[in-house]
Amino acid sequence: MPEGHTIHGLADRLARAFGDRPVGVTSPQGRFAADAALLDGRVLEAATADGKHLFVDIDDRILHVHLGLIGTFPVMPFEGDAPPEPVGAVRLRLVGEQHFADLRGPMVCALIDEEARDSIRLALGPDPLDPKVDPELALRRLRRTRRGIGALLMDQAVVAGIGNVYRCEVLHRHRIDPFTPGSTITENLWWEIWDDLVRLLHVGVVFGQILTMEDQIIEAERMIADGTAEPITASLTGERLGDFFERRFSTYKRAGEPCDRCGTTLRSEQVAGRTLYWCPGCQTRG
Ligand SMILES: [Zn+2]
Repeated sequence: MPEGHTIHGLADRLARAFGDRPVGVTSPQGRFAADAALLDGRVLEAATADGKHLFVDIDDRILHVHLGLIGTFPVMPFEGDAPPEPVGAVRLRLVGEQHFADLRGPMVCALIDEEARDSIRLALGPDPLDPKVDPELALRRLRRTRRGIGALLMDQAVVAGIGNVYRCEVLHRHRIDPFTPGSTITENLWWEIWDDLVRLLHVGVVFGQILTMEDQIIEAERMIADGTAEPITASLTGERLGDFFERRFSTYKRAGEPCDRCGTTLRSEQVAGRTLYWCPGCQTRG
């Protein structure tokens, strides 16, 4: 499932490919045809992300997209006068001067008004990729419940944009027991988690890839600092992002293997609808 870094990266690519110009909007599959006609030929003013929600402002209307588990929305270049014929069930197609973007399999694709956008935003917890948010709001919401921190990190009303990989890995990075009740999470422990999520998601947006291994993060931050990461972020080729670094995690999908920190066999269990992976040996804080 796309986590918050994917949607923020997508918003940025949409803004660069189509921003401040009239955009062609169609629904090749037909399911969004009437709404697409209202947007067609109007100026795409902005594309922004809140957690896993994408908002595209076209003229005075707002397109709301949530990719859900299987949705995709690649931005691709085309040559000549027009993009290629759509392939498969394309709910929505955006066409600009040099790029097109095909939305397939979204959980949500709808026109909404400002009021509806406000209520979606109000229901979300703070997004680590938004510098204006109040991380204490997440702490207050965590503390109201005895549900485990492993489940709470997946709750978009607590923190927006976190999915399964980030929740498993951030808890392992800080040796936190995923079953620690939210009500007992201390302020210090919360700031440790939050600051790390901010760091991890920023690196994730730049590379379009979830990076949680410290050696990879340090290398990624070096590339961001010296500018060598820029061409990767700036590419609008439609090629799948997210394979610059070797795909490697401490816990995710590693149940049964030894923990690389303490050697204990990693475990898995269904928590908040997705498989939680953790190390019962060294994840004892909380
Ligand atoms: Zn361990």
